Amino acid sequence: MTDRKTELAENLAKVEDRIAAACAAAGRGREEVTLIVVTKTYPASDVRILSELGVRHVAENKDQDASPKAAECADLPLTWHFVGQLQTNKVRSVVRYADVVQSVDRPKLVTALSREAVRAGREIGCLVQVALDAGADGRGDRGGVGPGGIEELASLVTDSPGLRLDGLMTVAPLTGEYAGRERAAFERLVDLSTALRSGRPAANMVSAGMSADLEEAVAAGATHVRVGTAVLGVRPRLG
Ligand SMILES: *Cc1c(COP(=O)(O)O)cnc(C)c1O
Repeated sequence: MTDRKTELAENLAKVEDRIAAACAAAGRGREEVTLIVVTKTYPASDVRILSELGVRHVAENKDQDASPKAAECADLPLTWHFVGQLQTNKVRSVVRYADVVQSVDRPKLVTALSREAVRAGREIGCLVQVALDAGADGRGDRGGVGPGGIEELASLVTDSPGLRLDGLMTVAPLTGEYAGRERAAFERLVDLSTALRSGRPAANMVSAGMSADLEEAVAAGATHVRVGTAVLGVRPRLG
């Protein structure tokens, strides 16, 4: 194995151990939690190695970084998640490679995703991104809609051709009542997911937890954890 492959294999094994231990502690089956490796800022060669090591889900947060990378990796059996704030002028590019957009947070974005998904002949899974630190305007600093805005977006996605409502996503808030309380934040997301699923049982994805707080997310009931740094290393630049 190359040095990089050895390094990524070791990091993946550590993350796998953490997820397995968190599942065991929570009395959950390991198969209830899916690992998504966040490959943002890292090269296509790393994505290829991860695929060889058995990773099946990757995530990106910037179209200009993700688009050429996904094209280079088009032969790999990967599901691509888009997890960044998404401008409507990038939607046409993103629907070419993204299977799931986790950062759906406003009606205009749903309309654009639907139009471009239909044009591309693709079905895009959508997660409503929930901002648990939303201000009075109902929006979060790093994207997302406040809990009061979930229903409107969920209905819109459900009624939009080319889109499929898959569930909810959040990032642990740095400010507000949930700052420093990751477990409580993720439990709140799971409660919101329970409410969403009462009318839409298929929208059962709960995407929460990153390198620093994946245990809290698994304990709260997350179905998907998004891990970057713990697998690939500290990113060379902010992303
Ligand atoms: C970068 C990123 C992650 C991964 O964060 P790490 O701390 O590197 O594990 C997860 N989710 C989103 C939305 C991200 O932008």
